[in-house]
Amino acid sequence: MDKIQKRQYNKQYYSENRKKELQKRREYYQNHKKEALERQREWRKQNPERKKQIDKRYREKHKKECVERNRKYFLLHKDKFREYQKRYNKTEKAKKRFKKYRKKHRKEMIKRTKKWRESERGKQKLKEYYKRPDVIEKIKKNSKTQHEKGKKRRIEYIMMLGSKCSKCGYDKCFSALDFHHIDKTEKESTVECRKKDFIKKIKSGKVILLCSNCHREEHWEN
Ligand SMILES: [Zn+2]
Repeated sequence: MDKIQKRQYNKQYYSENRKKELQKRREYYQNHKKEALERQREWRKQNPERKKQIDKRYREKHKKECVERNRKYFLLHKDKFREYQKRYNKTEKAKKRFKKYRKKHRKEMIKRTKKWRESERGKQKLKEYYKRPDVIEKIKKNSKTQHEKGKKRRIEYIMMLGSKCSKCGYDKCFSALDFHHIDKTEKESTVECRKKDFIKKIKSGKVILLCSNCHREEHWEN
């Protein structure tokens, strides 16, 4: 018998005695568990592509079981996972991924955090969070930079609008110049105003520059 003939013979034999063969294999596996496992591990190492395919197929077929098993495993090793996640979140890769995710799901995330903040658990956690000394320091620092940013942005807008009162031509001090919304209903607080929206308003002429005197006069008259 040459090689091809032998293979054909084997194939036929297997297809005819499939159940018997399977039983045989199962028995063999039960008796030689360690060796079999080792061999399997070795094979998986040597054929990474096939391994991926097989794992994927298995996961698709046994989705529920996999999820359940993962959940059980997670609950058993909670602390370990938390620690691992903390370490992972500090890596560059994680930061990049998170940034991408945030860009894509911005609206949903805002909604979710709003809901969480309003829940009992969220309220308590936030209370605890704002009492932490490192957080207090962080906020102090941040508010300083935030203030500077706001100032810079204000100057930028004023320059865009010609840096003088559009009624009387006053141009001595930037802090005495206000943004006046021609349409009252479109006014938002300057803090809430996003940069893009505000620049759009400036370009379309919905916002003009007035000195504080002219601004008061304007509102007194209307
Ligand atoms: Zn003026």
